[in-house]
Amino acid sequence: MNPFIQLGIRHDIVNAITELGFENPTPIQEQSIPVLLTGSNDFVGLAQTGTGKTAAFGLPLLELLDFEENHPQALILCPTRELCLQITNDLKNYAKNMRNVHVVAVYGGASISDQLHQIRRGVQIVVATPGRMLDIINRKAINFSNVKYVVLDEADEMLNMGFQEDIDSILSTTPDEKKTWLFSATMPSEVRRIAKKYMENPFELTMGTKNTGNENIEHEYYVVRARDKYAAFKRIVDFNPEIFGIVFCRTKIETQEIAEALIKDGYNADSLHGDLSQQQRDKVMKRYRERSLQLLIATDVAARGIDVNDVTHVINYSLPDEIENYTHRSGRTARAGKTGVSISIINGKELGKIRQIEKTLGKRFVKMEIPGGFDVVEKQLFALIHKVHNVEVNEQQIEQYLPRIMDEFKELSKEEIIKRFASLEFNSFLEYYKNAPDLNAPVDESRRSDSTGDRFNRTGMRSDFTRLFINLGSVDGFSRGDLLGYICNTAKISGKTVGKIDVKGVYSFFEVPNDDVAKVQTGFKGADFQGRDVRIEISGDSSNESRGGASNYKRREGGERREGGFRREGGNRERSGAPAGGGFRDFSGKRREDRGERRRRF
Ligand code: AMP
Repeated sequence: MNPFIQLGIRHDIVNAITELGFENPTPIQEQSIPVLLTGSNDFVGLAQTGTGKTAAFGLPLLELLDFEENHPQALILCPTRELCLQITNDLKNYAKNMRNVHVVAVYGGASISDQLHQIRRGVQIVVATPGRMLDIINRKAINFSNVKYVVLDEADEMLNMGFQEDIDSILSTTPDEKKTWLFSATMPSEVRRIAKKYMENPFELTMGTKNTGNENIEHEYYVVRARDKYAAFKRIVDFNPEIFGIVFCRTKIETQEIAEALIKDGYNADSLHGDLSQQQRDKVMKRYRERSLQLLIATDVAARGIDVNDVTHVINYSLPDEIENYTHRSGRTARAGKTGVSISIINGKELGKIRQIEKTLGKRFVKMEIPGGFDVVEKQLFALIHKVHNVEVNEQQIEQYLPRIMDEFKELSKEEIIKRFASLEFNSFLEYYKNAPDLNAPVDESRRSDSTGDRFNRTGMRSDFTRLFINLGSVDGFSRGDLLGYICNTAKISGKTVGKIDVKGVYSFFEVPNDDVAKVQTGFKGADFQGRDVRIEISGDSSNESRGGASNYKRREGGERREGGFRREGGNRERSGAPAGGGFRDFSGKRREDRGERRRRF
C-alpha cells in the first residue's frame, strides 16, 4: 500500500503528490502527519527548510477542512513573499484532484485589490505574510472567526524580521479554540516564548538534534588574506565548474559590487537585495530558478524563504553576525534529501567565529586549501571532457556538415583528434592560470608541521625541493620512467636527484632540489618535443615566496552536483561576455585572475 495512504491521506491527494514524485514520506511527514490529522493538538516542529514540512502540515489541512464551506478555516503565516507563493502553489498542487479548494496568497509588493477580490469570492486557506495580512484585517476585508488552524511557518524568521506585534494582532482576530502549528528551523528563546503564549501543551517534534542543521550539509572554510578574498572566491567557483550556488554577503552594497565584478569577469551571476523592486526581484529569481544564473549573490534578508532545489553550494562571502543566520544560509542547500556544501571564506581573525558556529551546530568544519591554478585547470579540463562525452548530438542538423568535417580530419588519428579538441580549451585554461598565486593565508593550523621541525612544508613536500610543471604528460606517451629519462637527458641531471614525478594527462609535475632548479630551467631552454615548445615552470607560485606552492588541498568529490549541466543563456551571456559552454568561463586570457585593481576593491 502507498505509505501516504497508510498515514491516512486520501487517494485523490496521494495521486497528486505521486505525480510530484513523492513516493515515501520524509521523516517529518512520517511523524507529524498522524499527529496533525487528529486535529486536536497544538504542535511545535523543529525542522529545517527542505525537509518536506510544507506537505507535513499541508496534507493534514487538506484532510481536515470542510471545502463545502467557503470561508477562511486555515491561516498560514510565513516570513516572505517567496515562501508565501511557494506554499500556495504547493497546496494547490496537492489539491489538484479535489473540488472546491480555494487557496489565496496574501503578500506585500503586489496589487491588494486582486487579493481582496479573491478573498471576496471565498477561500478556505489563506497563506500570508504578516504585514499585508494585517492591512487586510484592518480594512475589515476578512473574517477569521471560523479559523480552526493557524500555521506559523519559519517562526524564527518571522521574529527575526520583527513581525512579533503583527502576529499578535493577527492572531487576536482568530478564535481561542483554534489549533496552532508552529514550524521553526531554530528554537531561540523568542520562539519558545511565542510557543508558550499561543499553545497549550503542544506536541513537540524535533527532527535531528536541536540547532544541528541538516546532516547532509558539509561545512568547509578557507582562510585567506582580506585582499585576496575575491580572487579566492573566484578560484573556488572555477574549481567547481557545475556550481549552482547562493553567495551571502552582509550588505546590499557588497552584494551589488560582487555581482557586478562577477558579471564583468564572465560569470552568470546577479544580486538579490532589499533595494530591488518586487518586479526586479522576481526577474532575478526566475533566472536563478531556470538556471540561467549560476550564482545568486544575496543578503540574508533578501534570501529568506528562497526555495530552490539542487543548490549545490552556499558560500558565505562574509560570515553572518548571528549564528542562527548561518543555519538559515546553509539550509538553502541539501534540500529534499540531497547533499550540499556550505563554504565560508574567512580571514585568520575569524577562526574564533568558525569555532563558535561549530560548537553551536555540533559539527566539525573542514579546513580546505584554496586550489592551485593547475588544480583548477585539471578540474575544468575534465569537466569539459565530461561534457563532450555527454553532449546531445543533433543528428539532423549536423549531418549535412559531417562529410566536410570528416574530410578535414581524415589525416588524423582518433588520439590526435581528441588531443586537439581537449587542447582547444585547455590552452586557454592554462594561459589564464599559469601564474596563479597561492591564495592561502598562513594560519597557525597550517604551520603545525613547521613547529615539529621536520623537513616538510605544508604541501607535504620536502622544503628543500621545488615542484616544477612541465607541459608534457601521458597523452604525449610519457610514463613516469619515460619522463624521468627525458628530464635527465634534457637538463643533464642525475636521475637520483629527481624527487616525486606526477604524470597527468597533458602536463606533469616533478620535484628537484632547490639548488638544481636553475640548471633544469637552463637545460630546457629552447627544448622542443615533436615540434612543440617545452615549458618548465615553478608550480603554482609566481612569486617564489613559497616554493612548491601548488596546493595539495583535500580533493573531495562529495556534494558536488553530478548530473545535468546549465542551460545556455542567450541575452545575458552576450551582455556579460560569458562563455558559450554551460558551467564554463571565458578563459581566453582577456581577463586575468590576478588583476590588481579588482583584487584591491574587496
Ligand atoms: P519543503 O521543506 O516543504 O520546502 O520541501 C522541500 C522539497 O522537497 C520540495 O521541493 C518538495 O516538493 C519536496 N518534497 C517534500 N516531500 C517530499 C517527499 N515525500 N518525497 C519527495 N520530495 C518531497
